[in-house]
Amino acid sequence: MKICVLPGDGIGVEIIAEAVRVLDALKSDGLKMEMEYAELGGCAVDSTGSPYPEATQKLAREADAVLLGAVGGPKWDVLPRPQRPERGLLGIRKDLNLFANLRPAVLYPELANASSLKPEIVSGLDILIVRELTGDIYFGEPRGIAVEDGKRVGRNTMIYNEDEIRRIGHVAFKSAQKRNKKLCSVDKMNVLETTQLWRDVMIEVAKDYPDVELSHMLVDNAAMQLVRAPKQFDVVVTGNMFGDILSDEASMLTGSIGMLPSASLDQNNKGMYEPCHGSAPDIAGKGVANPLATILSAAMMLRYSGNNEAAAVRIENAVKKVLAAGLRTGDIWEEGTKRVGTREMGDAVIAAL
Ligand code: NAD
Repeated sequence: MKICVLPGDGIGVEIIAEAVRVLDALKSDGLKMEMEYAELGGCAVDSTGSPYPEATQKLAREADAVLLGAVGGPKWDVLPRPQRPERGLLGIRKDLNLFANLRPAVLYPELANASSLKPEIVSGLDILIVRELTGDIYFGEPRGIAVEDGKRVGRNTMIYNEDEIRRIGHVAFKSAQKRNKKLCSVDKMNVLETTQLWRDVMIEVAKDYPDVELSHMLVDNAAMQLVRAPKQFDVVVTGNMFGDILSDEASMLTGSIGMLPSASLDQNNKGMYEPCHGSAPDIAGKGVANPLATILSAAMMLRYSGNNEAAAVRIENAVKKVLAAGLRTGDIWEEGTKRVGTREMGDAVIAAL
């Protein structure tokens, strides 16, 4: 596997270092990987003037997968928009055509107290939200604010064609096949024709996956069920806007931003893997950031782009072991557990491998 490593800014550098050490440990066990580094975000602006410079574009396009830390920070917030680090992030997602965003929300029983919900409702939670990332009302035309009949009118267009729905459907069904074989498609077909088509196409795609049980839920109910009884879900698939909201809701059930990995995939399972959190400028350089979201993102990379389920599970089990042993970075620390820094947490995961 050829991996393009983008540490980015802030804590990105520290947490990527630990994920790379974990991958290196697997490499010495015979896993074949080549890692090359490039710049994305603020660091790239500083050295080239662009948040997604050409050298990074070349490496990212040639790689089988991209492993990203995080980008951004107050230093760059004053720049004109095209030069902001976040533009680099949007740029690479678009450039690589990453249309499927996979966000697992897993609550390890040891961290059940970190959730804002009662432990019995969330303990052991393990769901996967599959969100379409390149279509829907966020990109649909026509759009804009215009003056019509003397009044300002805001307009956006919710639009999906059947091919776009079908390709995210296949990703979701395949993901469900690798898990508990239950897929819930979320729409608003009672009022929105676009999502009636969404439901129709999901039912068509389901014919290719007779081993997966497909159900449907309206988005308002899904938002409610996620906080009422989240463990009823295995895989959830939905469009860009509903997915934006539901994936944040689901991830926050786990209460710990430093634990959440994500994957964004293209048609051929090439992907970009990154933690859900940002560059955390408030703790950058202090050696206290939680590296587990990034280490778990590396596990997703091996699963989806490397097609190596065994290696992915090995990393995930190592993380479980470390948590069970009571090691915690500051963001997940509680009374009775041992507080460790970024490097010590990486060491512990490698030892547990
Ligand atoms: P953030 O996720 O960086 O931080 C929010 C809070 O969570 C902070 O208190 C931080 O210390 C803490 N935190 C985050 N990750 C942690 C970890 N691994 N271990 C321990 N604590 C952790 O969000 P923010 O403060 O809103 O944004 C900071 C910068 O990051 C901004 O420039 C923003 O644009 C950028 N950002 C980047 C991404 C990305 O690269 N994908 C995502 C979100 C925000």
